[in-house]
Amino acid sequence: MILQANPGASYTAYQAEIDEVIQQVLTSGWYILGKEVKAFEEEFATYCGVNHAIGVADGTNAIVLALRALGIGTGDEVITCGHTATATIAAIEIAGAIPVLADIDPTYYTIDVEAVRQAITPQTKAIIPVHIYGQPADMDALLTVADEHNLPIIEDCAQAHGAYYKGKRVGSMGTVATFSFYPTKNLGAFGDGGGIVTNDPAIYEKLMALRQYGWEQRYVSSVAGFNSRLDELQAAILRVKLRYLDADNQKRRNLAAIYTDGLQQLAIETPQTRDQGEHVFHLYVTQVDNRDQVMVALREKGVGTGIHYPVPNHIHPAYVDRVRSVPDNLPTLIAATKRIMSLPLYPELSHNDAHQVVNAIREVL
Ligand SMILES: *Cc1c(COP(=O)(O)O)cnc(C)c1O
Repeated sequence: MILQANPGASYTAYQAEIDEVIQQVLTSGWYILGKEVKAFEEEFATYCGVNHAIGVADGTNAIVLALRALGIGTGDEVITCGHTATATIAAIEIAGAIPVLADIDPTYYTIDVEAVRQAITPQTKAIIPVHIYGQPADMDALLTVADEHNLPIIEDCAQAHGAYYKGKRVGSMGTVATFSFYPTKNLGAFGDGGGIVTNDPAIYEKLMALRQYGWEQRYVSSVAGFNSRLDELQAAILRVKLRYLDADNQKRRNLAAIYTDGLQQLAIETPQTRDQGEHVFHLYVTQVDNRDQVMVALREKGVGTGIHYPVPNHIHPAYVDRVRSVPDNLPTLIAATKRIMSLPLYPELSHNDAHQVVNAIREVL
């Protein structure tokens, strides 16, 4: 079976180095917020081209903390894309704010900037674009809208570690940016982990306090905070994997090219990439008619596929009839949801297996 994602393969790929750092952390006697976290934060900030990075518990918490550091909470509206992991929307509500969901651009699946304009009200306090599937959102247009309305942008980079937009890394363009290090992400830990990056020293100081009980000084809370910490084991593992992130992203792009070439003449739409960006293919998402039958037929041929995501957030039982969407009911997202299908993609997938996926699709279609 060719799996759609395979985080275990990334352990095998770097096993000797990972085993070594795990042993070092375990024997060090220091397990939370120590020198591994500090070193990872410095290395990740440098990698993203920003001044500061903060390790936190996971990608959901990263968004909650970013909103809190910007002073956003009860009664405030935050615009994000309807097409995202539910985590983005959950985080806005955990912070006490109201999610407003904008539709997608039909070509790139990222947030529709015209819908963002329409969604803005006097209560709007931030915009959270999502670099979905590894492709940067239309940042120039978003930054223009944000500037016009004096709104901060929080980039949700959970699916796009290392992607570029006009030569800038994702995470370096917004006021703040958040990352998830969930095992299947482009930079994944072997457990939960998250990160926040910013160039703003005041936001950085706030985040450092917020992630640990609001402490500026040990055992004294200056603000009401959280417990949202990255642990030393995950930080040490992430430091190893960060060294290979650009190479791993290149492997993802090479596999994506095999798919795009191989599927050219078939009744399947392959993903479009923005000229100004560099896609890091967290997911390779196609569109196909009779998607559910195609997925079953591919499974019978030993090819695992996925749907990211099968039900749009605004019609989840938790949010239906409660969350505002712009335009109403997100028609472009609804149409795409019926046809999207993610093909197997992870850096360790062999080119041979990628060709086998192409052959299986050719036979099924
Ligand atoms: C994975 C993901 C998150 C949440 O990250 P967790 O680490 O699982 O909390 C947030 N936003 C997007 C777009 C994601 O893909």
